[in-house]
Amino acid sequence: MTQAILINVTEEIVRGLVRFLLNGVEYQTFCNCELCEMNIIATALNNLPPKYVTSDITRAEAFKILKTPHNIEAVNKEIIHAIYHFPTEDSHLKERKG
Ligand SMILES: [Zn+2]
Repeated sequence: MTQAILINVTEEIVRGLVRFLLNGVEYQTFCNCELCEMNIIATALNNLPPKYVTSDITRAEAFKILKTPHNIEAVNKEIIHAIYHFPTEDSHLKERKG
């Protein structure tokens, strides 16, 4: 018998994409410390439907569905929105001016 798991596949995808984006050239001016990264992930996840699964098989299926270009685009949109609109009280801009 396979072991039961409880995973939000949306979260896995968002975590990967946020890390990728924050380490890329395009978002160099945004802090990529753990706190800022987590804040962006949390903000994006609050705006996206969760996709919970309980086995490796359903997880693989969910990945297949969620990784279509159309879905990735929607997820990216939420992430970019979170990066730009996450209010910066406890997150930091690397090169804050003034
Ligand atoms: Zn930071």
